[in-house]
Amino acid sequence: MIPFTGNPLDRASDKRVDAGWIEARRRDPSSLILPLWRLEPLLRDSPASNPGAELGLLSPEIAGAVADADAVCIFLGLEGERAVFALDISAAGDPANEGPLAGLGYFRDARTAAQLVPIREAAILGQAKALIDWHQRHGFCPRCGAPTKIMDAGYRRLCERCRAEHFPRVDPVVIMLAIDGEACLVGRGKQFPPGMFSALAGFIEPGETIEEAVRRELMEEASARVGAVTYHATQPWPFPSSLMIGCFAQAESRTVQADENELAELRWIERPVARELITGKEVDGIRVPPPVAIAHHLIRAWALGEV
Ligand SMILES: [Zn+2]
Repeated sequence: MIPFTGNPLDRASDKRVDAGWIEARRRDPSSLILPLWRLEPLLRDSPASNPGAELGLLSPEIAGAVADADAVCIFLGLEGERAVFALDISAAGDPANEGPLAGLGYFRDARTAAQLVPIREAAILGQAKALIDWHQRHGFCPRCGAPTKIMDAGYRRLCERCRAEHFPRVDPVVIMLAIDGEACLVGRGKQFPPGMFSALAGFIEPGETIEEAVRRELMEEASARVGAVTYHATQPWPFPSSLMIGCFAQAESRTVQADENELAELRWIERPVARELITGKEVDGIRVPPPVAIAHHLIRAWALGEV
């Protein structure tokens, strides 16, 4: 499975507007609260999987001791009868080492954390991180500049001056492998570490379909002409709010040229090489992303002939 997918929670979206129900669940001792400090979730070592970690879900009593009453608190959903929330504790100084959370765990950035916890928990932390990140950046109305107020348990912000409503955003990104027979096209971004090659990617622009964005990005970044575009899978990518849409595109030739503004290098990799690369090996000076990234899964699915 692809990390950040497969969220096990029932989002119970009809409950978000019931402020009384939300408030009661926030205080219910059986509820679970995931604290995020400066966008990093709390983790603790997992007795079930060693080495490994699990989300540092807290009781409302402990979580309430570390955050002010006006800290952003988001209803993530229900796990059975239990409500699960995310809480922004960024105002705390050093919560892993002092105060009520000292000794209860450690904070890790969301990308690292997603590789440490069970996959169903990675999806929960991705939801929490994307939402809290959005709230941190949307405290003011983009229409009139006045402060906005959190509503609906974290799924809306309301401008109290002009009454404009603002909703958590999801930004679609296409990420694709151009395929020509037994080879696929990967690129090394200018900021990538040496040897790291990945699928090409770019934001979908207003007025564009997924297929059009795939064709445009391959033309812009690689001067590659492609025919049929097929969808493979999507991945929520909370950095800060992307939805990665993984596709394959049939190349019309192997004649490509890297856009120097974006890419350091392009390479066609043959299928047997791709099969080695997905095991984490370096081959001919090339590595590909680890399984946390959908690019890995695109390369894997093609390398193994699953598409
Ligand atoms: Zn406004």
